[in-house]
Amino acid sequence: MLLMTLTTKYVNVFVNSKKHYYFSLFCSMPCETKSRFVVLYGSQKGQAQSIAEGIAEEAEDHGLVAELSCLNQDEKYNLEKEIAPVVFVVSTTGDGEPPDNALQFVKRINKNQSPDHYKHLSYTLLALGDTNYANFCNCGKTIERRLQALGARQFYPAGFADDGVGLELVVDPWLEGLWKAVKEASSKMASVRNDESEANVKDSAKEFLGLTQPDVQLNLLSITDQRSQEAVQTDFHNVPSAPSTSSGQNPSTFSGRTEFVSQNDAMQTKDEGIPHISSSSPLTNSVPPLSQSSLNVPALPPPFLDVTLVEVDAPEQNVGPLKETFHEVPISKAVLLSRGDSVKTALLLELDISTCPALTYQPGDSLDVLCPNRAEEVDYMLCRLGLKDRRDHRVHVALRKDTKKKGAHVPPHIPQNVSLLFLFTWCLEIRSVPKKAFLRALVEYAADGTQKRRLQELCSKQGAADYNLHVRDASLSVVELLTAFSSCSPPLSLLIEHLPKLQPRPYSAASSCLRHPGKLHFVFSVVELPACFGRPAGRRGLCTGWLFDLIHPGIVFPGKTESSSSPAPAKAIHVSLRPSCSFRPPSEQSVPFIMVGPGTGVAPFIGFLQQREEARKRNPEAVFGETWLFFGCRHRNGDYLFREELEGFVASGTLSHLKVCFSRDGREAEEAVASAANPRYVQHNLLLYRQQVADILLRQSGCFYVCGDAKNMAKDVNETLMEIIKTELHVDQLEAMKKLAELREKKRYLQDIWA
Ligand code: FAD
Repeated sequence: MLLMTLTTKYVNVFVNSKKHYYFSLFCSMPCETKSRFVVLYGSQKGQAQSIAEGIAEEAEDHGLVAELSCLNQDEKYNLEKEIAPVVFVVSTTGDGEPPDNALQFVKRINKNQSPDHYKHLSYTLLALGDTNYANFCNCGKTIERRLQALGARQFYPAGFADDGVGLELVVDPWLEGLWKAVKEASSKMASVRNDESEANVKDSAKEFLGLTQPDVQLNLLSITDQRSQEAVQTDFHNVPSAPSTSSGQNPSTFSGRTEFVSQNDAMQTKDEGIPHISSSSPLTNSVPPLSQSSLNVPALPPPFLDVTLVEVDAPEQNVGPLKETFHEVPISKAVLLSRGDSVKTALLLELDISTCPALTYQPGDSLDVLCPNRAEEVDYMLCRLGLKDRRDHRVHVALRKDTKKKGAHVPPHIPQNVSLLFLFTWCLEIRSVPKKAFLRALVEYAADGTQKRRLQELCSKQGAADYNLHVRDASLSVVELLTAFSSCSPPLSLLIEHLPKLQPRPYSAASSCLRHPGKLHFVFSVVELPACFGRPAGRRGLCTGWLFDLIHPGIVFPGKTESSSSPAPAKAIHVSLRPSCSFRPPSEQSVPFIMVGPGTGVAPFIGFLQQREEARKRNPEAVFGETWLFFGCRHRNGDYLFREELEGFVASGTLSHLKVCFSRDGREAEEAVASAANPRYVQHNLLLYRQQVADILLRQSGCFYVCGDAKNMAKDVNETLMEIIKTELHVDQLEAMKKLAELREKKRYLQDIWA
């Protein structure tokens, strides 16, 4: 009877472990030891969480037992008493901040001061970040620094993975080495405790007989669960190479990108249907050498959701988005800011927020815009699932009772009892870039052998370069993937398990409510994703494409006065405010500041300058610090956004210096060479005014703001600043880096950047 209890479920063993531990000592029963370890994650968009879940799922195959928790579930773990190895997986968000669900943990470990506090703790850490942003992996680095300051020991070197170049470059090798390290750490810790516990066996026996109840070292005891051991897949298994028919595809028969419709030509029509993908596309076809190699593919993610569709008579209440934290506000004006065909389409939207006090904002704040998935893409997905006729059925989602997934839960972004149509329109990011786990799961549902093999390749270790090229770097969406892999028919539950939440898109406020009471402006350019193998006709960004379509008939065109243009559109959108913690003009008006904002990056600075102009009008006697704006775009006559307004700020003295450069004017872009006399990008102009920049930043305690593209511009500006500091202060690279770090720390070098 006792034996039965011990061998059926190790979960129970932990729950009732004290008794079992002592029985195991007395009975000397043969039992296989599985060491436990703890996996803690902090995740904003789900990537860190999914890696942590993957670790927990694989653990059994390595003879380990993982206890998985989110960092904010502090009732589920206790680091103060933890005697097993701990694995942290954490991402970084915003300007180097912890994800929301790690915030309290980071605050807690920052408060704690005793250098012995975590002396007993053995940990390792995987940090996710993006070098396109400032403070790369800052949350991971902070946790690591604090753990060490509190006495914790690292049992395996920390990994710092960069989403800018591909997380897997670090994550995959780090995971490979993890298992050996956890086992070694575990056995070391256990042997130390064994020594102690042997000495205490007699005491333990007494304790069991009811004399005392000491802490039990749970991870000394674990019992092999035969059932679950058999059911679990190996973490990686070999898949044979493709039959020669699929590997025989000749890549040279594909005529490359010239087949695609030019994205400019397709502007009006490209989103209107789901394009056909050529069956010889390199996205869907294996070619040597990959097609001939054996593959290591990840373990099949265990299914964890049961989804049922219920037919109802009553019409759905929620036909729009979920409105808890969002406010519906009318668009009172839409203005086209760019001109000509050779530039991105940039628009300004004015929202009427006069009846919505919750949207009271400051320059530097941004707002989240809720946007739906495109109707034709939703229709396509429902067709592919064979559920088009059941689009109005209500969706009920529950956890599978028999799921093997560790820490399984119904994702919080899946509401109950909404229609299938609502779920696909407002809740699931059907344009998300498919993760490897999703590709792996799709393998099971591909009817065509060539496509099955190709999906295996794309999620395999050997196919990482192809995945990066055709999926990740191309920003291929799930819709595009399913279009390309036409033989694949996944069930609805699989999509609900794998698709992330449809995220609202943030936009910086481009106005001051002192200048525009009751109004909020924001500016965006319509994102154009170019054609690629899975996307024959290119497409527009989801939110910017949707906004463009929404306002298209009511746009005010440049050169026309408002009264002569078509009436303002009576459309409304759902938004919520994202107050900024630090991206604000200096609180002291006398502090000089420099703003760098090419393209739509100029948006928050329009707000800064409107605010400043109003303050100057209201208090003409006050001393105001110098202001500089470095702006850049392609063409003076095409995308010089806010030109009149900026020149007006200069004329009124609100903006002391406006430095503008045009990257494509008067030269062939490829041949253009920037020089001191011929600046091309904002960083060239910064160099041109290096002495003034250095003077404001290093001698007048001024502030430096950067807004816009994270991928190139913000990096280049950062490097230029470093150069300026080096030459102006006569210091080396290291000292210049320290100086920049100090400026960031003091909130005098601030970034609001996006990829
Ligand atoms: P999506 O459908 O989300 O597509 C964008 C995706 O396409 C991205 O993943 C990107 O990597 C990818 N992509 C883009 N171009 C290419 C390409 N050429 N090739 C391959 N992939 C590509 N934007 C503004 O215009 N104005 C603002 O004021 C502004 N403020 C912001 C403030 C903050 C705090 C943040 C985080 C972002 C801000 N953004 C701003 C960016 C904005 O939120 C959206 O990301 C942007 O408008 C695109 O949204 P979308 O839904 O149209 O595109």
